[in-house]
Amino acid sequence: MTSFTKTDKTGVMLPLPLGSAYDYRVPAGLSLSPGDFVAVPFGPRRAIGVVWGEAAGDVNEAKLKDISGKLDCPPLPEVSRLFIDWVARYTVSAPGAVLKMAMSVPDALMPPKPVTAYALNPSPDDFKMTPARQRVLAVLTGGPPRPAAELAREAGVGPGVVKGLAKAGGLVPVTMTPDAASLGREPDWETPGPDLSRDQKDAAGILEDATETSGFSVTLLDGVPGSGKTEVYFQAVAIALKQGGQVLVLLPEIALSAQWLARFRARFGGDPVEWHSDLTPSRRRHTWRAVAEGRARVVVGARSALFLPFPDLALIVADEEHDTSFKQEDGVIYNARDMAVVRAQLGGIPIVLASATPALETLLNTDNGRYLTLHLPDRHGDAVPPVIENIDMRAEEMASQSWISPTLQDALKQTFAGKEQAMLFLNRRGYAPLTLCRTCGHRLQCPSCTAWLVEHRHGGRLQCHHCGYHAPSPRQCPECENEDTFAACGPGVERLAEEVTSLFPDIRTVIAASDTVAGPKAAAELVRRIEDHEVDLIIGTQIVAKGYHFPLLTLVGAVDADLGLTGGDLRAAERTHQLLYQVAGRAGRAERPGRVLLQTYMPEHPVMKALQAGERKTFMAAEAESRRLAQMPPFGRLAALIVSGTDVGVVDAAAQRLSRTRPSADGVAVLGPAPAPMALLRGRHRMRLLLKTSKDVNIQAVLRDWLARAEVPRKARVQIDVDPYSFL
Ligand code: ADP
Ligand code: ZN
Repeated sequence: MTSFTKTDKTGVMLPLPLGSAYDYRVPAGLSLSPGDFVAVPFGPRRAIGVVWGEAAGDVNEAKLKDISGKLDCPPLPEVSRLFIDWVARYTVSAPGAVLKMAMSVPDALMPPKPVTAYALNPSPDDFKMTPARQRVLAVLTGGPPRPAAELAREAGVGPGVVKGLAKAGGLVPVTMTPDAASLGREPDWETPGPDLSRDQKDAAGILEDATETSGFSVTLLDGVPGSGKTEVYFQAVAIALKQGGQVLVLLPEIALSAQWLARFRARFGGDPVEWHSDLTPSRRRHTWRAVAEGRARVVVGARSALFLPFPDLALIVADEEHDTSFKQEDGVIYNARDMAVVRAQLGGIPIVLASATPALETLLNTDNGRYLTLHLPDRHGDAVPPVIENIDMRAEEMASQSWISPTLQDALKQTFAGKEQAMLFLNRRGYAPLTLCRTCGHRLQCPSCTAWLVEHRHGGRLQCHHCGYHAPSPRQCPECENEDTFAACGPGVERLAEEVTSLFPDIRTVIAASDTVAGPKAAAELVRRIEDHEVDLIIGTQIVAKGYHFPLLTLVGAVDADLGLTGGDLRAAERTHQLLYQVAGRAGRAERPGRVLLQTYMPEHPVMKALQAGERKTFMAAEAESRRLAQMPPFGRLAALIVSGTDVGVVDAAAQRLSRTRPSADGVAVLGPAPAPMALLRGRHRMRLLLKTSKDVNIQAVLRDWLARAEVPRKARVQIDVDPYSFL
């Protein structure tokens, strides 16, 4: 690292979407190194930025401003800075906008203030014991002191219980830094793991070696659901910990991953550090700083965890690597799975991608030898793969307003009779996706989005799933003014639950959707209820497709297996296959065999045929071939330009202007502009252009050049989506 002398100036990157680093003067007596967090004047304000490197020298000496001071915080590691620059270049974003993601918790840059925590009183007075007090004492036994709020939360008691217990002399207050209090017990790599099967051991050995020797490598852990992928990559986690490194595990929906957390604790006798949007501000602050100081050893997080300032990252795992929720669709648009591979490369460390249904892109990278593959073809123990059958809905006698076919009803009946659990999968929240007037046909639509309002009967209202708009169900049609003419069209999970109740009145049902299972607590409670057989039937959206292991669950029914196949999405078939296969993977994970029934009107569709035959290879090969013929990713490159604004005229003009300056070269094509399928989203009008290039074209260079030539009016915004997954 270089140090600057007192007369130097330096470039400082600010976490703002503004282009590149700004020059500042380093005042006498201040010694700075790249990566240091500094306070600088910025217009009339003060801002915090990062010393990025050499000054550009493009600011007049007389106008240079002094850096105000250096913050008492570990520097942003070099690899993080390289990563930020890389992501900015790849996504065609301002580096400051990417830095902002890495500096998402500005408070963490200030040294933590000491807090009062509570410890067990080593010589307690006599006090009244209650079950609640007992739980508090149990949390503290064998664990570090904790602040009152956290103690109460972990013990599942009100804050009054902790206070009362302290007053009664059961606890003593101690002063400590909040960081030390919040990390929980450190995972211990020496905790013995389970006995691995032969396949598991072979796979684990290779991952252990890769972690031990370090250096960049990508390994795909391709194993059927229930094959023990988690146990296998835990072995690599143990090696990374043994060597003193940090580990990042990316999970698509960490807030719902109670089972994963429990498994980790069971395996390592300690806690991983969680990173997701559901943390309290103080927890975010402590966690960010603990990562920066290298104290947080294993971080499990959603995609944004990738931008945490790890000084010693030794291993990355991206679990469920195919999951499209790794794609960030707002702000800087990036795919966390892909960027994780880049982060591993820049850090010179191994990355493990785990999935039962790897993405086409990933499979092709294993075919061409860039990634190594490890296969786990069998379920762990005696569990056998579930039998998957299609129900041809054209041949079923369906009563009106009914969605569960006689065949599926029979299967449910058998399952309940055998005291086993079943799951009905329908990827639609709420009661009904569409409400229309029977008299005039008027459809209730969101005022701010191109979307129908979804009825949620539980909440007694209509809701937009895109912007959060909601309204009570109207009595009168706004179009024809008739009263009580609205009809619910199609089923959501709530409506399905209604049908189940009329078919099986004694069955205990739970609805699992993102609005009924909000946050980690609710998810953990749901999992517990299912594990303890307090429910017989789970009616769920895609949130139940992931990773869960419920030994008594033996029947899975996909109510509308065709749902994801409509629309012009280039990955529609691949995604539907992944989703249905994952849902199917929930069935029969223990001794009892599983059965999966897919209700489809297209049993001859390649997706349904592949699922029924249990044959992924041929299906994915056909998918790859069709993409190759169309020169679609990963055989060609795509980038979407989304023009948006509140004034439809401005948006249209901006899109036309982009169109006039469109690039033209060999291997470069522009489709559009056309109104986006979501032509209105959160009150903003939207037009799309799609840039399609051949593989050998540097699409970022084409985009940058194009944007530099096109003058976008200030009232319109152009978002760039390199490698788009959503075409809405
Ligand atoms: P996957 O991630 O491939 O779906 P999991 O890692 O969740 O599979 O494993 C499925 C179940 O089998 C889990 O309950 C796990 O604890 C158990 N399991 C897997 N491998 C072993 C093993 N070697 N010994 C004991 N239990 C195992
Ligand atoms: Zn809306």
